[in-house]
Amino acid sequence: KELPADPLVSNTRRQVRNACFSYVTPRKPSNPSLVHVSPEMINAIGLKESSVSKEFLAVFSGSKVMKGTKPYAMCYGGHQFGNWAGQLGDGRAINLAEVEHEGRNWALQLKGAGETPYSRTADGLAVLRSSIREYLCSEAMYHLGVPTTRALSIVLSGDQVMRDMLYDGNPAYEKGAIVCRVAPSFIRFGNFEIFVAQQDVKTLKELVDFTLKYHYPHLGKPSKEVYLAFFKEVSVKSLEMVIHWQRVGFVHGVMNTDNMSILGLTIDYGPYGWLEGYDHGWTPNTTDSAHRRYRYGTQPQVVLWNLLKLANALYPLIEEAEPLQNILSEYQEELKVAYLKMMKSKLGLFEVDANDQVLVDELEAVLQQSETDMTIFFRELAKFRTEGNSNGLAIVGEAFYDPKGIKSEKATLWEDWFLKYKERLKKELKSDVERAVVMNSVNPKYVLRNYMAQLAIDDADKGDYVLLDEFFNLLKKPYEEQPEHQKWFAKRPEWARNKVGCSM
Ligand code: AMP
Ligand code: MG
Ligand code: MG
Repeated sequence: KELPADPLVSNTRRQVRNACFSYVTPRKPSNPSLVHVSPEMINAIGLKESSVSKEFLAVFSGSKVMKGTKPYAMCYGGHQFGNWAGQLGDGRAINLAEVEHEGRNWALQLKGAGETPYSRTADGLAVLRSSIREYLCSEAMYHLGVPTTRALSIVLSGDQVMRDMLYDGNPAYEKGAIVCRVAPSFIRFGNFEIFVAQQDVKTLKELVDFTLKYHYPHLGKPSKEVYLAFFKEVSVKSLEMVIHWQRVGFVHGVMNTDNMSILGLTIDYGPYGWLEGYDHGWTPNTTDSAHRRYRYGTQPQVVLWNLLKLANALYPLIEEAEPLQNILSEYQEELKVAYLKMMKSKLGLFEVDANDQVLVDELEAVLQQSETDMTIFFRELAKFRTEGNSNGLAIVGEAFYDPKGIKSEKATLWEDWFLKYKERLKKELKSDVERAVVMNSVNPKYVLRNYMAQLAIDDADKGDYVLLDEFFNLLKKPYEEQPEHQKWFAKRPEWARNKVGCSM
């Protein structure tokens, strides 16, 4: 039987067969230094902030392999932008170890610690820019209540990494960095798909059974029924995840099946972005600007498409299409219900009315008539009052990118909608104040706006981590008022239009 290759012999790029992973050794960085650590995640894995020492830096920069551990990179495939892409795998991610603390298991994974058998034509490295984007956003998402992988630390490697070519044909270098990300598991849909492509049902079954044993133990011993129950639960978790994305205005940008977690966690913070103007057609991914496959409005449907690919991957263990298809149909039904419920919660509506769907549809239409900041709109909407003469349009006025553009017929559309909204609110049992409290726990005041990440990156590139630390702390309480941070509750400045950091 072929065994995973010996890392001491080769980290070399290759097609891997009959294996879920390959042992690898992280690359030694030339001069590592700490940029930031997450105190919460330090505690979660059973360390103390005071234990962030030289030893910590050595381990989480890849300089030193912890005694008794064998780092490895996982093998996976995936559908990228709708097409089967063959073997992908952890091209720049290396799993260091797993930690069990207070009954929870955490896999620790370095991103950007050098090449692996799966690096294909790339270098296995990451730059400070993309690392800060992942670090800040994954922690911000967690505090928004969105299922996600977490981040423990970010370090500079001390090496320069080549990324873009300048217009004169010379290479541009950026600071190399390594994020340690943390999750109960990093297994993706693509980890299963690869074995179907290779017609290796034996290894497929081993991986599915492993996943069940360690991550879905409550489903019981493997059987066809249990495999189906597993698929159902992954489908439910994935739906919950994407509904949260829609709620907060997060656009993932690369929802390929290799970026879909088997635990329903948001994974792979690449060219993601946050909605500024509410627009179902928006995508932050400039390489997807023609088809907009991964635009905001289609994210729930893309999850379904990805689930279909997972169903295909599990099929050899189930050998019956109908029950898998039924689960996919249920997803569509449950999506409708969950989406409406989520949108209603953003509006402070909890009772049932036959016209709720129409009210939401009309709002979405009028929101897209003129550029309307999603975060500001929903946050300010909580100030709407059913008593007296509440002027809806004035209350949400700060949300419009071009307030002068909200004239005549657009203003009439808004006034009509607010009239219906006010009428509908009469059905609610909560007072204005109670409703505002609940709405403010669903509609964040602070998100990691695209230009905010860029400002933190620009400073960090000069060695100044003050803004990075400020955002890290601000975004721990995204639903709280934090008046001292009010300046970040603001529309994107005009210079930042269409500027979204890129994925590499
Ligand atoms: P992504 O689009 O980020 O999901 O990446 C797709 C695939 O490319 C994954 O297999 C990654 O591991 C791999 N990859 C991305 N960037 C690099 C890099 N700099 N070096 C090696 N592999 C990479
Ligand atoms: Mg990826
Ligand atoms: Mg990526």
